Amino acid sequence: MGWVTPAPGSAAHTVQPATGTRLDPWIGAYADRTHGMRASEIRALFAVANRPEVVSLAGGMPNLEGLPLETLAQIAHDLVLTRGTTALQYGSGQGDETLREQILEVMRLEGIEAHPDDVVVTTGSQQALDLVTRLFVNPGDVVVAEAPSYVGALGVFRAYQADVVHVPLDDNGLVPEALEETLARLAAEGRSVKLLYTVPNFHNPAGVSLSLERRPRILEIARRYGVLVLEDNPYGLLGFDGEPMPAMRSMDDTGVIYLGSFSKTFAPGYRVGWAVAPHAIREKLVLASESAILCPSNASQLAVSAYLANHDWRGQIKSYREMYRERRDAMIGALAEHIPEATWTVPEGGFYTWVRLPNGMDAQAMLPRAITALVAYVAGTAFYADGQGADHMRLSFCYPTPDRIREGVRRLAGVVAAESELVQIFGTGTDRHRASQTVESVVTDTH
Ligand code: PMP
Repeated sequence: MGWVTPAPGSAAHTVQPATGTRLDPWIGAYADRTHGMRASEIRALFAVANRPEVVSLAGGMPNLEGLPLETLAQIAHDLVLTRGTTALQYGSGQGDETLREQILEVMRLEGIEAHPDDVVVTTGSQQALDLVTRLFVNPGDVVVAEAPSYVGALGVFRAYQADVVHVPLDDNGLVPEALEETLARLAAEGRSVKLLYTVPNFHNPAGVSLSLERRPRILEIARRYGVLVLEDNPYGLLGFDGEPMPAMRSMDDTGVIYLGSFSKTFAPGYRVGWAVAPHAIREKLVLASESAILCPSNASQLAVSAYLANHDWRGQIKSYREMYRERRDAMIGALAEHIPEATWTVPEGGFYTWVRLPNGMDAQAMLPRAITALVAYVAGTAFYADGQGADHMRLSFCYPTPDRIREGVRRLAGVVAAESELVQIFGTGTDRHRASQTVESVVTDTH
């Protein structure tokens, strides 16, 4: 292991890793933190799932057909012509001040009162997840997260060698009693718990929201155990009915870091998200962000800012909500019609429903056969750090049309029925997996 470094001046003074393979000769050189890095199950699926003949209920891509593209083209045109030398220049590490003020207006819809100085603009909220984890998590520290959790956050926690401990959620979100029990156990074990990561609204992948009644209780428990809450909220304004719920940050401005994003309410391609953090943390966040990217893209920020200033962004969000509600209805209706033996959450906003397969079926084992049947989903195991979730799948209804969603669920029903037969014959253990592989090779060979 390690490096072979011949003496300076010697003929072979090139640094080479001592171990490796032909595929990756640098294997011996990687830092420890890369060991947990692996392609997300979702990314591995993308190549197949994006083929037009496959109905993809897998990805979480927003549907952008309703965007006012003419307006956005005009904004880009005007921006370059009138403010080009600013838009194309480096900018502030913390983000454009006008945009930060506009972000306050967006957050007011969820009851957050803050100052522009509290906001740090990031390259999507994904970068904010990375920055916060970098600031707080040493290898071996615990991050408490919902069971299941957003796969992209788990990837970040893994990259910083955190130990993710899951706490169950139910139809009303994270269960306070379970959180209390877990934090008490971790404290008794002397573990260092740094963050409670939560997606309180229209959860990815579970589709549920943290009830209003539970919000202050969760905050109180986290405060009592000295754990910082990381509130990740890209979907909060995408509720199908009624007003948005107050953010956890609106109830506690010292113990919560709030993450927001324009990816789902506007467009992910601009890569503009943000973090709101207590004062001292905010300064560190800016330093961490500067060392990672110097500054977020000025061009993107100014384009988003012009959109917010000159376009009916509230109306745009309303039309997104209507579109996604129709797709949610198509998904839930099709599940009830075609796969009544499964159970699922009924999301009141966002992009996802979380489906539980009956009879101990394994969504991961079933996936190749679903792809063969031209429908894709994400198996539940992707959303856990500890291998749970095999009997679940995440279905997203954000991207395909209602008709395609219904067709996708119909195809899925055929796969579930066939899988159910296999389970009945071979059980759920090794025999069943062997049987599935045999069926799989036959199916693949005949296509
Ligand atoms: N958090 C959650 C819960 C998400 O679902 C996503 C995107 N799928 C993100 C964060 C990252 O979004 P972005 O970086 O585009 O803001």
